[in-house]
Amino acid sequence: MSTLTHLECPECGRTYDADQPQTYCPHCESPLLARYDLAAAARTLTPEAVAGRSRGLWRWHEILPMRAAAFRFTLGEGDTPLLPAPRLAAELGLSHLWVKDESQNPTGTFKARGLVMAVSRAMELGLREFVIPTAGNAGGALAAYAARARAKAHVFMPADAPEVNKVEVQAAGAELVLVNGLISDAGRLAAEQAKNHGWWRVSTFKEPYRLEGKKTMGLEIAEAFDWELPDVIIYPTGGGTGLVGMWKAFDELEALGWIGPKRPRLVSVQSDGCAPVVRAFQKGAKRARTWKKAHTIAAGLRVPSVFADRLILRALRETRGTAVAVPDEAILAAQQRLAAAEGIWAAPEGAATLAALEQLVQGGWVQPHERVVLFNTGSGLKYVR
Ligand SMILES: *Cc1c(COP(=O)(O)O)cnc(C)c1O
Ligand SMILES: [Zn+2]
Repeated sequence: MSTLTHLECPECGRTYDADQPQTYCPHCESPLLARYDLAAAARTLTPEAVAGRSRGLWRWHEILPMRAAAFRFTLGEGDTPLLPAPRLAAELGLSHLWVKDESQNPTGTFKARGLVMAVSRAMELGLREFVIPTAGNAGGALAAYAARARAKAHVFMPADAPEVNKVEVQAAGAELVLVNGLISDAGRLAAEQAKNHGWWRVSTFKEPYRLEGKKTMGLEIAEAFDWELPDVIIYPTGGGTGLVGMWKAFDELEALGWIGPKRPRLVSVQSDGCAPVVRAFQKGAKRARTWKKAHTIAAGLRVPSVFADRLILRALRETRGTAVAVPDEAILAAQQRLAAAEGIWAAPEGAATLAALEQLVQGGWVQPHERVVLFNTGSGLKYVR
């Protein structure tokens, strides 16, 4: 059973009823965070108990928002492998390197984790028609889970998004609206239509539960490392749900008493053609300004305005992490290198983490003995033209 108690604004501390549909804090324009009764959760949630449950993200149900098992939809998401990358490690002069391979999720990316949670919880709260602006992969995942839940979905996507994303959305029976512009333009159109038709918006951080799905990546990493977290986690950042989700997961695990206060240094990677988080981090700013003329082959990183900028920047600073911009040429080279060295054909976003690691090793920010995890967030197959 879920021990969800309420939703909380991390900026002003206001609380919101979690059993009503909620969006974000209107006073602060901030995402809301789901809060749990962790003492109650600890009565049934133990490392032994989660290890013994059947695979997938629902085995963490005490600290997930779903109350009724009947609405826990699934296509087999979660529990992706943590693959050792010994050849790549040796090439880079490192001793301990892994790739958390999210490409093995349904629809080929980690977006499945967030959308299974947002759709399941919205269905539980009585919502039946969804809308999403997307760079591509979130739309594919929403379409799949909406089909699974027998709900309707409307997907607003830039016209130049990867072809596979358009095919998968239509195959699952969702409405596909192609937009001339970026995800931010798709976002404006989607918001307008949502208002007109009463559709439920599952845009990044505009509802509280995609984050809870992404949080399970942090839970799985902690479990895989036997509750001794790695030193560095490198993560490709668009809207930032994955990064903030892992940060939240580690705090909850510490409150449960399963890990100590030590955190991995979290690293945000963006393309130098769209790097609002990197720019804000380097300036020491609290907010990330909108990036003009955003362009990159890594579609999931082409997010010029970042709604959760305050949380992302906090997560990077509190963990003594950093933010790195890499050029598209380095991303493409890293994609080839990862496939040739380890057999992992990564999405450009995932490959960007290797390009960033190359920079961080060269600059001495990552030391040879440190335990490093790269996140491959999606399959390279989704980008083949
Ligand atoms: C959406 C996406 C990202 C960015 O993820 P956020 O959690 O929104 O920062 C990275 N990689 C892939 C493949 C994506 O689809
Ligand atoms: Zn607030």
